[in-house]
Amino acid sequence: MTKNFQCARRLQVLPEYLFDIIAMKKAEAVAKGKDVIDLGVGDPDLPSPLHVVEALKKAVDDPSHHRYSSFKGMQELRETFAAWFFLRYGVDLDPDGEILPLIGSKEGIGHIHLALVDPGDKVLVPDPGYPTFQGGTILAGGIPVYYPLLPGRGFMPDLQSIEKMDLRGVKIMHINFPSNPTTAVADLDFFRQMVKFGRRHGIIVCHDAAYAELFFDEPCPSFLQARGAMEVGVEFHSLSKTYNMTGWRLGFAAGNRDIVKALGKVKANYDTGVFSAVQRAGIAALSGDQGCVQRSREIFRKRRDIFIEGLASMGLEAVEPRATFYVWSPVPGGYTSMEFAEKILEKTAVVVTPGSGFGEYGEGYFRTALTVPESRLQEAIDRMSHSNI
Ligand SMILES: *Cc1c(COP(=O)(O)O)cnc(C)c1O
Repeated sequence: MTKNFQCARRLQVLPEYLFDIIAMKKAEAVAKGKDVIDLGVGDPDLPSPLHVVEALKKAVDDPSHHRYSSFKGMQELRETFAAWFFLRYGVDLDPDGEILPLIGSKEGIGHIHLALVDPGDKVLVPDPGYPTFQGGTILAGGIPVYYPLLPGRGFMPDLQSIEKMDLRGVKIMHINFPSNPTTAVADLDFFRQMVKFGRRHGIIVCHDAAYAELFFDEPCPSFLQARGAMEVGVEFHSLSKTYNMTGWRLGFAAGNRDIVKALGKVKANYDTGVFSAVQRAGIAALSGDQGCVQRSREIFRKRRDIFIEGLASMGLEAVEPRATFYVWSPVPGGYTSMEFAEKILEKTAVVVTPGSGFGEYGEGYFRTALTVPESRLQEAIDRMSHSNI
């Protein structure tokens, strides 16, 4: 690297990824030979469904899948997603203009800013929230404007307060339900309010529905079920959490035709679409037996119950999640989130994520991902209760 080398300003102003610090501490603990239990990263430990793996294997053997695919994705995949969406949500999507396959939903969530945000435009970002909302905004030269998700409101956005802010120059509002990290679930009425909000202020609504299928009681609604949603926004879906396919990289943007088209234009310039064998596997996942999704839900529900009970036995309160594979809990004993995460890791070799990594309003919380088997989860609870933290 030359002495005069300097990263672009957009990278310099990107905040430090707080999770890197925890990842470093974890690596240190592992190097010391400690038996680390990682409840940090939101990456399911369960294998991808067998019939999906088989579909990929078969596709890989076919040389026609070894060539470039289109950024638009296969017609058959878009049609399969449309059929799945209609079955699940009762919403009719046009596979030719209202659906765009993505290399994981994160790819689309990041790139959408390049399609919609001019330098200096503002983007409403949930705090605490998924870091890509902020990162994508900054990389496009936009300005993130954080709106708080507070426990007093069940971690739902306070639209009345947001409307009192100066909304001039705001282009997008990001929402994410079920929420990572808070696990809050939105109802259809909230999505209807979001449509009104978007219309009233000319703000595009981007809903991240990555966890929409990981619910424990009522199925979660889609933003696109709200009347008028197709005029004001898009929804991001992902096979990652639904089918335990995080490594495969397959997601979708669905909704407003013009927004979908604009995102496609960015993609056409950045990538050449999803590996078509993976698209075949996606078709198998979306059109196949959905029993595998129900089995995942049951596994995560049991883990949730074990963990919530474990926290309660330590005198720690946490809201019982109605969806996602996370638990969002207040930090005990006057520690900051980061101090708590570091202490727990040091004393028990259990990795949790400090809430402050998700934004200012995540301070005072920690997130645990229920991505280890029940016995390991119980072990983590036992270690934590004996740690005197
Ligand atoms: C995991 C996750 C995603 C993205 O997943 P992909 O693997 O890129 O589809 C998006 N949003 C949230 C909130 C997530 O936790």
